[in-house]
Amino acid sequence: MSRSKPLIGVAPLVDEERESYWMLPGYFRCVEAVGGVPVMLPLVSDPDSLRTLGDALDGLLLTGGPDVDPALYRQEKLPCCEELCPQRDKLEQPLLEDFLQQGKPVLGICRGFQLLCVHLGGELWQDLPSQMGSQVCHRHPKPYNEPIHPVTIEKDSPLGKLLGVDRLEVNSCHHQGVKCLSPRMKAMARTPDGLVEGLWAPDYPFCMGVQWHPEFFGPENPHSRKLFAAFVDACRQQ
Ligand code: MN
Repeated sequence: MSRSKPLIGVAPLVDEERESYWMLPGYFRCVEAVGGVPVMLPLVSDPDSLRTLGDALDGLLLTGGPDVDPALYRQEKLPCCEELCPQRDKLEQPLLEDFLQQGKPVLGICRGFQLLCVHLGGELWQDLPSQMGSQVCHRHPKPYNEPIHPVTIEKDSPLGKLLGVDRLEVNSCHHQGVKCLSPRMKAMARTPDGLVEGLWAPDYPFCMGVQWHPEFFGPENPHSRKLFAAFVDACRQQ
């Protein structure tokens, strides 16, 4: 039986204290609103399980969460680096590589955006306030569905073509950021202090990420909806 809706794997959050895996509803709401079926991924890391997921899923949504292990970008973990999640690193990085090799769509958000940057050879600031000294507030308190800083969008990038705007007001809930991009990735959005907050990899059919949280704005927000719609449409082609 062929299926009419693409199946999108969504990386879970881990709550060690409550011994729980959990999901923010915004990710699911955004995927469902544009015709995809989201499923929360298990925290597996053995090759057979990863291959099963890579074969079954049409798209991969890399979500927000704890810091990416600095070892993945060849840095020692500094005191300013915060909580890590080795289980997610071990699930997400090989699954991401599998998706890229298969040419299947990947969308990264916040931590997921940072993992894309790192996986393709870039590096992160382990802590923006102490290392970069930015004047822009990147970690603002709730509510997260309100914008806090602007980004300028490259007109000829996938995001520029998709949204048809050269500037967007976005939310911001991160303390790390892109220090340098790999030559395999291109910037498509930047803050006034020069930080890259949107990137994509031209070598792949759909591989892009944003540092902000379109899922907190929800599918009611036209820009968030367009981004998720483009992702789910690409997944539908699989
Ligand atoms: Mn920001």
